[in-house]
Amino acid sequence: MLVTIASGKGGTGKTTIAVNLAVAAAAAGLPVTLLDCDAEDPDCHIFLRPEGLTLEPFAVEVPAFARDLCDFCGRCGEVCRFNAIAALKDDVLIFPEVCHSCGGCWEVCPRGALKPAPRVVGEIRRGSARGVAFVEGRLTVGERTPVPIIREVKRRAAKDGLTIADAPPGTACPMVAAARGSDVVLLVTEPTPFGLYDLKLAAAVARELGLRRAVFVNRAGEGEEELRAYCAAEGLEIWGTLPDDRRAAEVYAGAGLIVDELPHYRRVFEDLLARLDGRPE
Ligand code: SF4
Ligand code: SF4
Repeated sequence: MLVTIASGKGGTGKTTIAVNLAVAAAAAGLPVTLLDCDAEDPDCHIFLRPEGLTLEPFAVEVPAFARDLCDFCGRCGEVCRFNAIAALKDDVLIFPEVCHSCGGCWEVCPRGALKPAPRVVGEIRRGSARGVAFVEGRLTVGERTPVPIIREVKRRAAKDGLTIADAPPGTACPMVAAARGSDVVLLVTEPTPFGLYDLKLAAAVARELGLRRAVFVNRAGEGEEELRAYCAAEGLEIWGTLPDDRRAAEVYAGAGLIVDELPHYRRVFEDLLARLDGRPE
C-alpha cells in the first residue's frame, strides 16, 4: 500500500506525521518504506536518522549536439515547446537548464546530430533506521524542477508492505507527482483559516487525480469546528488528530519523535495504521 502524506501548505506537520507513522508501523512489525519526495527540502532524515546511507547520482536526459553532423535545417528548434533549443542559421544552442527531456529534438533530427546525454540534477539517498527502509530524493540547488527525481523515488517504493511518501507542500506539479498512483492521500492540515484554505486546494487536487482522500488534523483545538464542517460536507473522513500541545512542538524542535517522547500519543499513529489497514480502531 502506498500512502502519500500531503498538505496544501508547508508547516502543517506533514513530515512529523510521515516519520512517526513509519516508525509506528515498523514497531508493529510491518515492512515499511519511507520515501522523502520533498526533493527541494528533504527533512525526514533529520528525524529518522537513517544509517548506512548510499548516494546515487540522478540524471535526466538532455540533448548533446554534434556540429559536424548538422545541416542546420532548424527542425529541432521548431519542435521544442520549451525554448530549450535555438536553431540558428549556422549554429544550434542548447539550454539544458530548461530542457524537459521530452526527446522531441533528437527524434526529429534527420542527421543524428542530437543524441540524449545524461545531466545530473540531484541524488537518491538510501538507508534505513529502526526497521524503516528509507529513500530520499535530493534536487541540486538551482535545478528547475523536482518532478523527475520524485518519480524516480516513487519507483523505489516497496512492492509489499506499507510505503509512506512525504510529498512536497503545495498543490503544484511536485505534489501531483508524489501523490499520483497512491492508494490513499492523507491531507495534513491545521484548524486555521490558512490551513482550511490550503486543505480545500489539496483535497480538490487529490479528487481530480481520482485518489482516495482522508484528513489528519494537527495542532487541533480552537477553530476546529469550521474545519470539521468542511470535511463533513466534502465527505472527507478525519483519520487522526494531534492536539495543539507545546510538548509536541518541543519534540519537533529537538528533532525527536512523538512516538518516542510522548508515548501517550502513540495510539494516534496506531489508530492511523488500523485505518490504513482497513481494521476498526
Ligand atoms: S534538427 Fe538536427 S540537423 Fe537540424 S538543425 Fe537541429 S541538430 Fe541540426
Ligand atoms: S529534449 Fe525536449 S525539451 Fe529538451 S531540448 Fe529537446 S525538444 Fe526541447
